[in-house]
Amino acid sequence: MRAAVVHGLNDIRIDEVPMPEIGPAQVLVRVGAAGVCSTDVKTLAGLSPPRTVPAILGHEVAGLIVETGTDVEDWQVGQRVAVYPIAACGGCFYCMAGRHSLCLREYGLGRGADGAFAEYLAVPAEVLSLGGLVDIGDTPYATATLIEPLSCVLAASGQCGTAEGSSVVVVGCGPMGLLHVYASRRLGAKVVAVDMNAERLAHARRLGAQAILNPERDPVREGVLEATAGLGADIVIAAVGFVDAVCQSFDYVRPGGVLNIFGGTPRGDMMTVDPRWLHYGEITLTGTFASSVQDFRAAWTCLQEDPDPVDSIVSHHCRLDDIVAAVDRVRTGRGTKTIVVFDEVSGDAPSSPH
Ligand SMILES: [Zn+2]
Ligand SMILES: [Zn+2]
Repeated sequence: MRAAVVHGLNDIRIDEVPMPEIGPAQVLVRVGAAGVCSTDVKTLAGLSPPRTVPAILGHEVAGLIVETGTDVEDWQVGQRVAVYPIAACGGCFYCMAGRHSLCLREYGLGRGADGAFAEYLAVPAEVLSLGGLVDIGDTPYATATLIEPLSCVLAASGQCGTAEGSSVVVVGCGPMGLLHVYASRRLGAKVVAVDMNAERLAHARRLGAQAILNPERDPVREGVLEATAGLGADIVIAAVGFVDAVCQSFDYVRPGGVLNIFGGTPRGDMMTVDPRWLHYGEITLTGTFASSVQDFRAAWTCLQEDPDPVDSIVSHHCRLDDIVAAVDRVRTGRGTKTIVVFDEVSGDAPSSPH
């Protein structure tokens, strides 16, 4: 089969590789679509390199079951599915606490197991036993790949306690920031979106942000105070990959509020925090990088009820052969989200950029 294989730093090639073989408790999925995530780009750039190369990335995936292992009873060939990407052990301290992203085994698609930038994917047995396979019915594969990123956003909303009436500032309106705007609005929060890109801000507005602020033009702290009755925000989501922008976000949270570092920053980049700010402000400083199976299933429910706003974050579809260009696009912040589609399976025709 054909796969996009990572051979080293910034070295991804389309190779012919052996078909994955499945064990008795696994299913084989013919990949219908796979989302390109900024994590994939960071991995390629060497900011969080795969533990071993060659490796196949891709953890936002939907496809068709084409083979089931002899012990698999609940799944049949021909079912269209989305796949939770973390093959959590199910038995460690963190799994028992429902925090699959922190599983001590640290194993999953693109993290030790081959991911979805390939024609076929062997779904790890653990994913099935955790309930991490979801039947997507006739939802387009490209849409179903968004369950995973949405699940990460819901995980963060849960951790921050976002609720009806909360004030949320989303810093960074890339695909994940936009999903934060959407999910926070859906939970009944009032949202301020911050970005330097006018198009992304307009998108945030369409997704329901009540205020949009551009740090190049607007005094952001004043804008946040104005939108929050002079208090500052209950919740600030730093959905950016730069430490400077994370640090600026400190200014937007109110005393007693929560700041979530949602975007991964380059390895080695440090930030300075005034302990007095945390102490006297009684600030909660937290982070989220992935999701639990429960979040994944909640994201699927959300996507079924309301697919269009989630789908709106997709700016490009491409073929596997064009993945290098897609990665480049993510790296340079052009467009929002790219989905690799395998159109012979999905019928989702690749579209031109818009
Ligand atoms: Zn992702
Ligand atoms: Zn575990």
